[in-house]
Amino acid sequence: MLALLLVSAGRLHAQKAEALLDQMTLEEKVGQMTQLTLQAFAAQEGTPDQPFALDGARLREALVDRHVGSLLNVYNQAMNTREWASLMGSIDEYTSQSRLEIPVLYGIDAVHGNNYLWEATIFPQNIGMAATWDTELVAASARITAEETRAVGQTWNFAPVLDVARNPLWSRFFETYGEDPYAVSVFGTAAIEAMQASGETGWPLVAATGKHFLGYSAPLSGKDRTPAWIPERMLREIFLPPFKAAFDAGLKTIMVNSSEINGIPVHADPRLLTELVRDELGFEGIIVTDWEDIGKLVSMHRVAENFKEAVFQSVSAGIDMAMVPYDYTFTDALIELVEEGRISESRIDESVLRILQVKEDLGLLEAGPSMLPMAGGIGSDEAQAMSLEAARESMTLLKNDGLLPHALDGNILLAGPAAFSVPMMYGSWTYVWQGDNPDAYPEGIETLASWLPDHAPGNVTVAPWGTDHDPDRIRAMAYGADVAVLALGERPSVEKPGDIESLDFPAEQVALVRDIAETGTPVVVVLFQNRPRIIRSIEPYADAILLAYLPGPHGAQAVTEVLDGTVNPSGHLPFTYPRFSGSLVPHDRKFSEQGDILFGWNGFHPQYPFGHGLSYTEFVYSDLQAVVSNDHNSVHVTVKIRNAGERAGADVAHLFLEDHVASVTPPVQRLRRFERVSLDPGESLELEWTLTREDLAFIGRDLKPTVEPGLFSVRIADQETSFRLP
Ligand code: BGC
Repeated sequence: MLALLLVSAGRLHAQKAEALLDQMTLEEKVGQMTQLTLQAFAAQEGTPDQPFALDGARLREALVDRHVGSLLNVYNQAMNTREWASLMGSIDEYTSQSRLEIPVLYGIDAVHGNNYLWEATIFPQNIGMAATWDTELVAASARITAEETRAVGQTWNFAPVLDVARNPLWSRFFETYGEDPYAVSVFGTAAIEAMQASGETGWPLVAATGKHFLGYSAPLSGKDRTPAWIPERMLREIFLPPFKAAFDAGLKTIMVNSSEINGIPVHADPRLLTELVRDELGFEGIIVTDWEDIGKLVSMHRVAENFKEAVFQSVSAGIDMAMVPYDYTFTDALIELVEEGRISESRIDESVLRILQVKEDLGLLEAGPSMLPMAGGIGSDEAQAMSLEAARESMTLLKNDGLLPHALDGNILLAGPAAFSVPMMYGSWTYVWQGDNPDAYPEGIETLASWLPDHAPGNVTVAPWGTDHDPDRIRAMAYGADVAVLALGERPSVEKPGDIESLDFPAEQVALVRDIAETGTPVVVVLFQNRPRIIRSIEPYADAILLAYLPGPHGAQAVTEVLDGTVNPSGHLPFTYPRFSGSLVPHDRKFSEQGDILFGWNGFHPQYPFGHGLSYTEFVYSDLQAVVSNDHNSVHVTVKIRNAGERAGADVAHLFLEDHVASVTPPVQRLRRFERVSLDPGESLELEWTLTREDLAFIGRDLKPTVEPGLFSVRIADQETSFRLP
């Protein structure tokens, strides 16, 4: 009975979108496929000193006369709840004056909290969230983000990033859940399910966006929006799995990679956008372009002679909506293309139905308010506590020569640029796009320089840092200290502004570490960074290294608590930390990358391996077993883990699989499961997992998932066992 009701409810929904579509003119349909930026409707641009002011007449024209289906973004500054509510009110008012009264989808990059909403809860960036290996926490923070997004009427979140970070140079490394396709699939899916879960009124909170489809994170040059060369097998083995998992989890929208793969801009590639996404994977949601990317088919990629041709190519390839984002060039060109018979109206109908369907799914066609109430309110204490917890769990202790956790007991010198910089703790997409304007942040956010002196058990001296800082003076101060805490970092940046020529750490900061170490004072390095900058020359001088990623508002507290031992660090690297800029090899490397068999040349020796992370306690693994089921369809894996140290802590068990011989060269290891485990001293636990044939499969010579019989090994920590698949 229930099933019957659900089916008929589903049909009713579809009927609503279809009924609307039946009444629409071509102009109304193409309007739905148009997405414009708020920037196009500014009477006054928003800056940290002056509020954004809306040009109502232009917005009315867009929504009433041109039937625009979606708006996005902020203009240069975050807004508060009242300002967003008033803007959304104006938008709702205009759409209600339009003939069919179809509300817009409002899209926003709420990528680590609703970062363009002044009162919102900001979380660590995804790379730090992944370092927690705490799937429930990833889901819970995504849920809060979605609630705090829908609470101001924004119905579409351009998150999560499902790109697999295979090139550490890439300026968006920190936005990812790391380098491993399985981990990205697990965290990405958890985030999507949480964002699209039902809110108080029963409608999904927001539509999530899997971005950027596909292969955006592997530019050969390392620079943003530059070509990727990805063979089909690698595409399916590494980059596709998170999207496939997300589609299975009901993802409602995807955003397209701005760049090209193998010489074809993804925005103009029917093989990816139609054959793969629709025909093969059955995705029925919206495909939206990225920023101005139809125009870039002309201006950057040079595959279209003019804009109209570019519209033809991208709509034919399979896009449903264009992030134009300033004008009606897309709208007008598409209308012309239909009138000329080059694009059929039925092709337009497919896209419009998908757009209306998402609007209907979100409850927007029910005349309900786009703003959904939020229990607890925006930026509640509870949500802030979760952000703090995420920052704590993400802290990854890379090195400890025994200095920690008692480093903060005596006289402490605190130095380095990241000790003073709020933006360096947050990273980009914070209040403004690049996140680099300290004036755009709320006042009173604690940095290490403000927090540590009041909270360290010992005596803290803070060495000033700025354009006029004096290295000799800082060195002199170090002589009087028992320990130096050096907070190093990278200025926030993202997309093209974040392009770098080398992963090398800024020379000035390398010099700081050496200078201080030469005084004989023990050094703790704390790293805040967008991507793994090379620390080979710093590492020998540091007695301890803590990677804080981009922890957000509670970074200073979380770092302090790890240094003074209040918190036992439990973060683990979601990527391989490279030792050399020219050796960027991920953990699921091939044997040929592992090292020359005879002489050990050309070896794989990253600075720190994938999954690395130290603790103040000791975890002992034992009794790893892997048993193949009678029907050979699954493998049951068990392992014991014990906290053999003297304090409570959490560890992450990573289950790696090795296929010894295969018809496509097998990787040394692939991550197949993981679990974060908290244990009291002396406590132990047995973990168990069931691996399926899908877990044993690789993309074979025929480009299909393939399982071959033979020997496999399972590795967890220092344990290893093998099984043979008949
Ligand atoms: C970025 C997207 C983002 C969009 C809208 C683009 O420049 O690549 O990730 O969602 O802008 O702000």
